[in-house]
Amino acid sequence: MSAHTVIRFTDWMIGPERAPEAPPVIHELECTTCNAASKATEDFEDARDWAFEHVGRNPSHTGYREIIHRFWRATQVR
Ligand SMILES: [Zn+2]
Repeated sequence: MSAHTVIRFTDWMIGPERAPEAPPVIHELECTTCNAASKATEDFEDARDWAFEHVGRNPSHTGYREIIHRFWRATQVR
């Protein structure tokens, strides 16, 4: 997945961040009832465990929204 465009006589490419220290994806789950949120984590199971705990304490909070962070990098093409 990448995109290519020309802005002000310079070619730019935007694609997934390939730096080794960049995590591929960060997950977060948010309660749609009270907006409480899990921590942002590379491991989806951590976010899911938070949701189990949250619904356990608040049995009426049954809706969740997942937020996914994906890192991108713009580079100049010559
Ligand atoms: Zn909640």
